[in-house]
Amino acid sequence: MIDPLNILNHSKSCIAAMTTPKVITRFAPSPTGFLHIGGARTALFNYYFAKHMGGEFHLRIEDTDKARSTAEATQAIIDGMNWLGIHHDGEIIYQSKNADAHVDAAIALLESGAAYRCYADAEDLEQLRETARAGDTAFRSPFRDTTEQHGKPFTVRFRVPDGETKIEDHVQGNITWNNKEFDDLVLLRADGTPTYMLAVVVDDHNMGVTHVVRGDDHLINAGRQTLIYQALGWNTPEWAHVPLIHGPDGKKLSKRHGALGAEAYRDMGYLPGGLRNYLLKLGWSHGDAELFYTEEEISKVFDLAGINSAPARLDFDKMDFINGQHILEEPNETLMRQAAKFLEDVNGRPLDEVLSTRVLNAMETLKPRAKTLIELAEQARYLLLKRPIEITGKKAKPLKKEGAIAHLSGLTLRLKSLKGSDWSETAIQALLENYVSEHDIGFGKIGQPVRAALTGGAPSPDLFWVLTLLGKEETLARLEDVINSDFTKD
Ligand code: GLU
Repeated sequence: MIDPLNILNHSKSCIAAMTTPKVITRFAPSPTGFLHIGGARTALFNYYFAKHMGGEFHLRIEDTDKARSTAEATQAIIDGMNWLGIHHDGEIIYQSKNADAHVDAAIALLESGAAYRCYADAEDLEQLRETARAGDTAFRSPFRDTTEQHGKPFTVRFRVPDGETKIEDHVQGNITWNNKEFDDLVLLRADGTPTYMLAVVVDDHNMGVTHVVRGDDHLINAGRQTLIYQALGWNTPEWAHVPLIHGPDGKKLSKRHGALGAEAYRDMGYLPGGLRNYLLKLGWSHGDAELFYTEEEISKVFDLAGINSAPARLDFDKMDFINGQHILEEPNETLMRQAAKFLEDVNGRPLDEVLSTRVLNAMETLKPRAKTLIELAEQARYLLLKRPIEITGKKAKPLKKEGAIAHLSGLTLRLKSLKGSDWSETAIQALLENYVSEHDIGFGKIGQPVRAALTGGAPSPDLFWVLTLLGKEETLARLEDVINSDFTKD
């Protein structure tokens, strides 16, 4: 039977789907340095929100400040986003290429009277600013009240209207400004170039941006920009201003706190998935859920309502914990690729096939002991040591104990007789335990010298694993190196 209510609901949702515009978000960095982790988080929020809503996420490089924008910085942003797995839809938009549209908008504002020509020169401006400061009022130019044109260069200024400006922000709530707080800001400079305030409105409008998600250092700009949208007769986007990231000491994040660029975290051995997860959780929550591994699971739940309105503090212990969990979940082959540079650093050169296989086989024992790829490579150091291993100082102490070398020789003989195909953790464990009980000695008597001989004191897992993962040939060679050197003399 047909359920009329169902049909009604169904058609309602169809109409909603048809009339709700597609969500379009953007990340709009100024290319003046690297991909700041605050920016990376903004990009992630925009990206996941667009994914969550079935929309699009765009990248706009705000390169109108020619003096400060560089091609290297643009590339660093693109590389950082690629590394983090933040993929923009469509082509990259370069703001500098939209200058004509910016100028057109300024002309439209002049024509409608929402903007005016300001002929104040540097000296006048200094004076006017001083007057504004002294009266604790916003900047107003005397040229706002005339339409007279002088044959001199001019800037185009926005004529801030009287009244109030209200926005509803997804994170900050409802905000009202008295327009007296807003300066008559410059839209076009005397050389005809647009300012940020104009360019951002025109570009967001032309790109069809529906939601502006960015740092709350731009909150007041949302008020100013709302006025420009209204003056141009355009719909304002929805706003979400995200509190900035603070350092562990609660102060605004700065160079003082150390690494700021996403690439610095890559170089510290964080996985893209780990950093993504950490940045996502830094300022956004979904119940108690802490760990998010795949783009699909994040996109499913990411909403603007989960963004916290208080600033978040960087917490390296938490970052390490989350990254450690991602290391555990990462497939061994992928991890091997991601750790290649760090393994190479430990090894002194790229790993050859034998060493790569050795490390790959050991991966499950390395993973639980590493929070970063640097730690992972450090855990693998014992697998990469060159023979004869240098064993000096305190590390050589177990080899100098009475009977140590004799036990190593005895044990080596037995290990030699173990068939290569039987070279397994259980067989080795049984062999070592038999040796200890037959000689009626504590395990330490052989455990310590064997570990010293095989690892030179580098971090290592259970001894049985060390032997298993080094393999028969390498184990025996390392033991024989020690047996044949004289550790008794100092
Ligand atoms: N280009 C601006 C910045 O890097 C962002 C502008 C915006 O998101 O509206 O701070």
